Amino acid sequence: MSQTSRLAIPPPLSLYIHIPWCVKKCPYCDFNSHEYKDSNGFAEIESLYVDALIKDLEYSLPKIWGRKIHSIFFGGGTPSLFSGKAIHKILSQVRALTPIIYGAEITLEANPGTIDSDHFEAYKEAGVTRVSLGIQSFNDGHLQSLGRIHNSNEAKKGIEIAMRHFDEVNLDLMYALPNQTLNEAIDDVKTATLFNTQHLSFYHLTIEPNTFFFKHPPSLPIDDVSANMQEKIEDILTQHSYQHYETAAFAKPKSQCQHNLNYWQFGDYLGIGAGAHSKLTFYDQITRESRYKNPKQYMEKVTTQHMIESETIIQASDLAFEFMMNHLRLIDGFLIKSFEEKTSLNISTIDKELKTALDKKLITINHEIIKPTILGQRFLNDLLGIFLK
Ligand code: SF4
Repeated sequence: MSQTSRLAIPPPLSLYIHIPWCVKKCPYCDFNSHEYKDSNGFAEIESLYVDALIKDLEYSLPKIWGRKIHSIFFGGGTPSLFSGKAIHKILSQVRALTPIIYGAEITLEANPGTIDSDHFEAYKEAGVTRVSLGIQSFNDGHLQSLGRIHNSNEAKKGIEIAMRHFDEVNLDLMYALPNQTLNEAIDDVKTATLFNTQHLSFYHLTIEPNTFFFKHPPSLPIDDVSANMQEKIEDILTQHSYQHYETAAFAKPKSQCQHNLNYWQFGDYLGIGAGAHSKLTFYDQITRESRYKNPKQYMEKVTTQHMIESETIIQASDLAFEFMMNHLRLIDGFLIKSFEEKTSLNISTIDKELKTALDKKLITINHEIIKPTILGQRFLNDLLGIFLK
């Protein structure tokens, strides 16, 4: 951004904590997750990593000085591989080092293949308020083709355990899976609604570079079928009182994920842990940084305060696109005022792009609110492409 611009008030700040290990790498996964293989057991590496996270946070404090944490998210990888004791130690240190707003949402991602009641009890005692379960499907054949370590029964048992301990539970599911039919996708969404969790996420499976599926492409449903799946998912979830508030996210009233909302509203986040990303607003610039991805290298680098692999200033020419890339995922769009506050740019700088999006019927502008139309939601990449410089 231009060095003369001034951002009067930084947006809300969230904390993301990355846990980079999984029992097994899924063939579609491009997250920074590594299969854990060590005959010494997990306790030793867990303890070393917890110490690294705490050091990382301590060294990062000058960048967030005086700012309150609005939400915390343990993502991965598989955070539920960590013991309650480890999560307790991390959260105690976060509380000791930073002010956290009262009632802040604290989410932990869990894999149904790695959970039991004792773990969830301990997470709750540590302060976790919300659990997000990586279910993906209730169909054993599809779970197998996705390389998941759980089956349908374990998924259902995991949901019941999670709901016994937490009021706020999210289920992550995917559709447009290899060889999936429309009816199978409908079965998955109907099964998901039976549990009546507060939040559901339905992601379209995408094949990312550097994954097993990229090298060995599976047979996927054609675009028309996956578009039908998306429509059916939205219809069924609306009938069950879930509000569709973001491309893939559906929530019961007042149960939207605060942490993810902050990302989509172009808020700030400090990401600690291997490969974690941050976006931080200062009075004269907005920066992005990322940490070393390899867990061993990250742990070594933290000891010398050199855990950040890259740091960049977001240029003014990229700011509008970055803002749109997040905000236009939200079904309710955004206020023009918010664009100006969070980017320090005048909305007139994107007049031409807004007109193109309007002409193509991809957005509406009403009472100072810009939001994607149904067409804009369906063709989000085309809509975002308009704002890409
Ligand atoms: S469990 Fe999640 S993070 Fe781990 S490999 Fe599978 S998709 Fe990736």
